[in-house]
Amino acid sequence: MSFYDMDIEKVVKTIKKRKAKNVGLQFPEGLKTQGTKIAKILEKETGANIIISGDPCFGACDVSDNKMSEIVDLIVHHAHTPLPINYSVPTLFIEAYSKVNVETSLDETLNLLTNYHKIALATTTQHLNLLDQIKDYLEDNGKEIVLGSSKNTRKGQVLGCNFSSIKNLDVEAYLFVGSGNFHPLGIYLFTKSPVIVADPYSGESRDINEFADKILRIRFARITKAKEVKKWGILISSKEGQNRLELSKEIKKILEDEGMEAYLIMVDNITPDSLLPYMDLEGFVVTACPRIAIDDSQMYKKPLINPQELEIVLNKREWENYQLDEIFFHENNNS
Ligand code: SF4
Repeated sequence: MSFYDMDIEKVVKTIKKRKAKNVGLQFPEGLKTQGTKIAKILEKETGANIIISGDPCFGACDVSDNKMSEIVDLIVHHAHTPLPINYSVPTLFIEAYSKVNVETSLDETLNLLTNYHKIALATTTQHLNLLDQIKDYLEDNGKEIVLGSSKNTRKGQVLGCNFSSIKNLDVEAYLFVGSGNFHPLGIYLFTKSPVIVADPYSGESRDINEFADKILRIRFARITKAKEVKKWGILISSKEGQNRLELSKEIKKILEDEGMEAYLIMVDNITPDSLLPYMDLEGFVVTACPRIAIDDSQMYKKPLINPQELEIVLNKREWENYQLDEIFFHENNNS
């Protein structure tokens, strides 16, 4: 049984309505185990050929429309909300809301929120359906709740690389509903405000601030090491929603103007193995998903830094003004 609402009925209806003969299915890593079960149902109900994408998929920035355009007439992309990108194949987004009950973790959360009255809520796609319930619960317990919005995301939704919905909110603290440190860390780095996490899966609540301070110390060490780099690789993603070619070219020029060598390298999935051939390069600037440099930092021996961190390396930005990299999605991204 899946812990997520995969809305198979809607998928079946859409395949039939579009008379799709070949359908691509895309899942993030955590839901890939559901792939064959869903394919079996869809094949039986619609008669379409179902092709599961076996590649990693981390967001709606990474729809396999270009890879699958020759072979499918519909893609069903699970667990992310659409971004304003021109997808080259009709794409149905199934948000895959989690079915977990959030109330257990909220009881504990109230204790951690004792010192704050005005609180902003933030979550990921999987728990967007819970926001109204969480808001009511906290308001019933005397809190003032704010839900921010932006054109890149739904109300209260944050992406790992886009926090526009929670920017500049007049609140004392943030409550992130979800699992892991990926998104709450981003909220902390963007707002420099207290962030409490309510994890509906474990039923636990915690403060992210100590963890975030540890990450900042790691970033400081990486930036310090990067100051010795004279030969750079600038990593550009071939994923449409992560591709920032123009920014990459600007960075190359800036580095060359500083008397350094810089090479543009396009990669689909950035991994330590994908960088192994570039033994002569001493460090990398990542213009792809901003979380690669932050969250996977320990996997790389050479410094991997984001464009804003490069500014600190080149003395064009103060460490005190440290900023997380963000992607501002728009059609034909190149920001
Ligand atoms: S760029 Fe990274 S953080 Fe942003 S949506 Fe894609 S995978 Fe998520």
